[in-house]
Amino acid sequence: MVFQPIATPKSGLITDIPRPPAGGFAASASLREMTDDAMMVRCIELSLIAVKKGEYPFGTVIARDGEIVAEAINRTVRQSDVSRHAEVIALAQVQKTIGRSKLRHCTLYTNI
Ligand SMILES: [Zn+2]
Repeated sequence: MVFQPIATPKSGLITDIPRPPAGGFAASASLREMTDDAMMVRCIELSLIAVKKGEYPFGTVIARDGEIVAEAINRTVRQSDVSRHAEVIALAQVQKTIGRSKLRHCTLYTNI
C-alpha cells in the first residue's frame, strides 16, 4: 500500500509556520534534531488543516527512518466520536501499512 498524505499544503496557504532557513537547519543540529523539527512542522501543518475542516487543532505524524509512514488529523467533530484522535488514527493506519512488528522502529510526533 502506498502512503497517501492527507493534503499537500499549497504554496502560500500556510504562512505562519516556521520553516528551516534556505541553508537548512543549524549546522550544529544533529540529524535527529532536524528530523524532529521537520516532523513537528508537519504536525502543525496538519493541525491547521484540521481547523479548516472544523476539527480541534491536532495533527500526528509517524515516521520511520526519517520518512513519514502515516499521518492523521482529529476526526472527533466530523465523526461525533471522542475516540477519533489524530494519534489513534495514525497508529491504526501505520499498523495496517507496515505491520505491527515494525512499530517499534517508528517515532510518533504530535502537537497534542
Ligand atoms: Zn489524543
